[in-house]
Amino acid sequence: PVHSMFAYQGAGVAERSPFLLLDYAPPYSFAPHSGPRRGVGQHPHRGFETVTIVYSGELEHRDSTGAGGLIGAGDVQWMTAGGGIVHEEFHAPAFSQTGGVFHVAQLWVNLPAKDKMTPAHYQGITAAQIPSLALPQGAGQLRLIAGDWEDKKAPAQTYTPMRVWDLRLAAGGRADLPQPEGWNTLLLVQSGSVQINDGATVQSMQTATLSAAGTGLTLANTGSVEAQLLLLSGEPIDEPVCGYGPFVMNSREEIKQAIDDFNSGRFGQH
Ligand code: MN
Repeated sequence: PVHSMFAYQGAGVAERSPFLLLDYAPPYSFAPHSGPRRGVGQHPHRGFETVTIVYSGELEHRDSTGAGGLIGAGDVQWMTAGGGIVHEEFHAPAFSQTGGVFHVAQLWVNLPAKDKMTPAHYQGITAAQIPSLALPQGAGQLRLIAGDWEDKKAPAQTYTPMRVWDLRLAAGGRADLPQPEGWNTLLLVQSGSVQINDGATVQSMQTATLSAAGTGLTLANTGSVEAQLLLLSGEPIDEPVCGYGPFVMNSREEIKQAIDDFNSGRFGQH
């Protein structure tokens, strides 16, 4: 059960830039399974990056650059599709065999026009490489997947400045987490609830889009259970977004080119 939290079509695309799409699979318990593999078979991407965050469970991936591997609990795969990649994403065989809780988010991050055709590559970021910081006054915990906080820096290399934070706010916890002026900020509440700047309360499985004006961001968990949040903030890419399925470019001509290139096998050839 995968929920589309936002996508690159429709209203609000500029307000969410550089983030294009967020699919979220909340915790779901799978029984041991030996039939056909669960997941998504070979498919292409061009013009952006996919960021796969595994909270629980294990994914196996394989792609046209010849790379492949496992993404386990706490790990993140930051894949730059750039000029083109073909890949597949499945439940890992060991996970399928034993079953268990599967909990994953996949974020699509746009690339600026000048980097859309960069050669495909990926960063496999392990749980151990991700700084985990305690918030003041026992308010919770912050894992830096991308971007910085105080004197800590996340491992992910990004093409434009951004932050991707895996955030847990304890019941009754309150944290000041100012974001840079002019950046777009999005907040996915994965579980629990959180009040933003002493105003609106965002509930589980909702996404909030915050104004790029000002820097103040205070999150308060007024509920009785821990809140799990994904905070995304970034400098907007002020360019046209033209997407079609797994291709996100700047113009219809570039989309047509992507379809032609994929159909004639000119994807993932290095
Ligand atoms: Mn994919």
